[in-house]
Order: sequence, then structure tokens, then C-alpha cells
Amino acid sequence: MQTRIYHKADGRTLWLYGREPHTLPAQEEGEPAPEPHSHLRWHPVREEWVMYAAHRQGRTFLPPPDHCPLCPARPGGFPGEIPFADYEIAVFENRFPTLSRNPGPVPELPAVKAAPGTGRCEVVVYTSDHQGSMATLSTERRELLLQVWAQRFHDLYADPTIAAILPFENRGVEVGVTLHHPHGQIYAYPFVPPVLERESAAFSKRSWIEDLTPRLGDYLVAQAETALAFVPPFARYPYEVWIAPRVRKPLPTDLNPTELSDLATLLGEVTGRYDRLFGRPMPYIMVLHAAPRGDPTFHLHLEFYPVLRAPGKLKYLAGTEVGAGSFAADVLPEQAAEQLRQL
Ligand SMILES: [Zn+2]
Repeated sequence: MQTRIYHKADGRTLWLYGREPHTLPAQEEGEPAPEPHSHLRWHPVREEWVMYAAHRQGRTFLPPPDHCPLCPARPGGFPGEIPFADYEIAVFENRFPTLSRNPGPVPELPAVKAAPGTGRCEVVVYTSDHQGSMATLSTERRELLLQVWAQRFHDLYADPTIAAILPFENRGVEVGVTLHHPHGQIYAYPFVPPVLERESAAFSKRSWIEDLTPRLGDYLVAQAETALAFVPPFARYPYEVWIAPRVRKPLPTDLNPTELSDLATLLGEVTGRYDRLFGRPMPYIMVLHAAPRGDPTFHLHLEFYPVLRAPGKLKYLAGTEVGAGSFAADVLPEQAAEQLRQL
């Protein structure tokens, strides 16, 4: 993988990753990003951090296609975030970060413990093509994306203040997506978020995924030599799917070339099946769960939470899910797996 590091005029970094070296000349840049103002407050009852970023209210919301900030630069066109005429995969520091290298001052708050919102928020643009999705990318491009994720883990964990890293993708207006250009994000936190903390504790006892692997028959959606896509038998969301290497690997940097390639293939398999399930692009949240800093027993995996439970019917989180954290589902995981497998 080739890497070009470009420093934007406002101090943010842009990385251009590709199979070919990137040598195009830089074009005019857009408006500089506003100063970030991020801080954390401790929730003493849930015993977890809440992140605040007041500057985010002004962020770009569903721009017209010729004002897409992720599209490549065109002479005389709208200057977006990537001042180049083309690229393969681009990563840049978010204009409106929830966590930042320079988060600004922590407000004086007598009633609550507060801390700087130190960390990183990066945008990962999968392609220079405004149209398309994870499902329509080539397998080679998805392989490159997995290599980019691995490189970001490598670079971000070089900063000792980063405790955990979460690549994710929000897809569809139903999950609040404000830009349709195919892209995801990466959050790098100065603490281990609650979900990763719980999974890390569970994997420290045993690899639940390695335990499940030989017994997944009815739950498999697709498989490759070194990786599996399956509906977890304990799925909380209708049509939830996980993709995991068969053998425990804590971080994307631990994956071998076959595993990278198999995971890339399954990413395409799963997202393609989602889009065929209800005959429309499936809105979803995708997260990559990998080891918090220094955790040697984590088993990395991707989790997809689709937000449709039937054509035109959204799965709303409500009383029991939001108020108690206990999920109630009306699609059985084995039925969901059967349906996805048939597509
Ligand atoms: Zn675009």
C-alpha cells in the first residue's frame, strides 16, 4: 500500500492511500476548519464518559451533489475536503471532531468531573466516486480499506494517550447520515468505551467466537477459508450480522493477507445481501470491534446493526432497550440467517 501524507492549510492531516503512488498536484482548499471545542464529563451513575462538542451543530447537512465535501476537486468547482482531482482511499481529520488533538479548554463545572476531549476523529472516504456503497466497491478496494484500517490502528496507537479505536460506518438517512458519498469514520478515544470494555472482559475469559465457529451451521450467512459471516445466535437487532476471522486476532494489524482478503470478500457478501433483503439500500450501523490498547485476548470482528426490521419498518430502540439496556427482538436469529443465506 502506498501512502501520501498531505498537510492541509488549516493544520489538519490528509492521508491518501492506494495501490499506486499518489502524485497529483494539490488544488485550492476550502474554508479552514473552526477551532474544536471538545470535553468529557463523567456520568457518575452509569460510570462512563459523555463527550461534548458544541461546535458540531454547524456541520454539513445533506449538501447538494455538486457541493459534496468528499468528492474530488474540480477546477473552478466547490472546494471540498480533498484538494485533489482523484484518489483511491482518503482519510482526513474531521472538520467537526468530537475528540481532537487540540480539544480546547475544559469548562469549570462544579457539579461534575470534566476532562479534555483529547483524541481523534477521522473520516475515511472509500472511493472518489460519489455514488455506490460498501457493496458496490470492488473486492480489491475493500481489501485496501482493511489495510487502511490496520494502518490507522498502527498510527493512532503510536500516541500513548489513545486507549481504544473504533472504525464505523453509518449508512442511510435513517441513521442520521448527513453525507451520501461512500465513507466511514474512525474515533480514537482517550478511554475505553463501555461496549469495548465489556467485550474485552468477556474475551479475556475465552474467545466466544472461536467457541461458536464449529457450531454455527444454522447461523452462517457466508463463509471463506479464514473468516465467517453469521447472525449471532444471541443477536439483539433484527438481521444483525457479525464478520470475524476464524482464529482469534486482536487487531487489524494482526491479520494475514488471506484473512484480509477473506474479510473483504465477506464485507461485500453481507452488504450485498442486506441490499437485496428488502429490495432497497439497507440503512445500517457497522462497527469494527478490535482490542483496546494492550489487550492480547480480544477477537476482532465487524458488527452490523441494520435499522429496518421489515420493508418500510424501522426498528426503534424504545423503553426496554434505551431505559434498561435489555433488548427485545421479534426476528429469530436462525430465521434471519436463513433469509440472508438464501439471497
Ligand atoms: Zn461526493
